Amino acid sequence: MPRNMPPATVASHRDLVEYYISDASPVDSTAPRGYLERCIHSEIYKKYPTVNGVIHSHSHAVVPYTISGVPLRPCFHMAGFLGQSTPVFNIAEHYQSGDIQDLLIREVRLGEALASHFGKGSKDEPLQAVVLMRGHGFTTVASSPEECIFRAIYTQDNAGIQTTSLALNAGLARSSKASSTSIPEVHYLSDDEVAAATGMGQNAWTRAWSLWVREVQADPLYVIDD
Ligand SMILES: [Zn+2]
Repeated sequence: MPRNMPPATVASHRDLVEYYISDASPVDSTAPRGYLERCIHSEIYKKYPTVNGVIHSHSHAVVPYTISGVPLRPCFHMAGFLGQSTPVFNIAEHYQSGDIQDLLIREVRLGEALASHFGKGSKDEPLQAVVLMRGHGFTTVASSPEECIFRAIYTQDNAGIQTTSLALNAGLARSSKASSTSIPEVHYLSDDEVAAATGMGQNAWTRAWSLWVREVQADPLYVIDD
């Protein structure tokens, strides 16, 4: 993982620190300070041997779905991986006496609790691709770093689409109330569509990947220092 620095400013392998999965401690005891929440990553890798990518995000588009009671649901073909339900991890259920209640995953115990929310299938694979985190953000997992980035991007996009759709539907409901006409509900992906779109999405990142790499290369915000 990168050392404790803004992720967008990671410039080379010298910014990376190697950690033990057992307890997220650094392999090199003299390594620079790391991210506080690195137990998110270590506990997921520990629990799910098929996972090779973990992304934790504080996306503002997604946070409303962690606190409002409105479930995040798959809205379009790029987000079938969400499945029909996306669980919400409520850290308040896991606080112990003396814990700093800042909603952060500060230790192995909380990382393990979050990791458990992905559920485990018959081959030790996670059953959920995304777990929302109350008042905090979300975490997504995948079998490769590239697919994980795909899922993080489209989780955020799906949240934006759903918020816009719910707002449009609410406006329609208000105007229909006045005219006494029935209103349609927001139309999410069906079970069959979720399954088919998830299969499609497993390779969908391959086309987008070269574009995302090019965007990093072309944007002066990012410094690439080999
Ligand atoms: Zn966080």
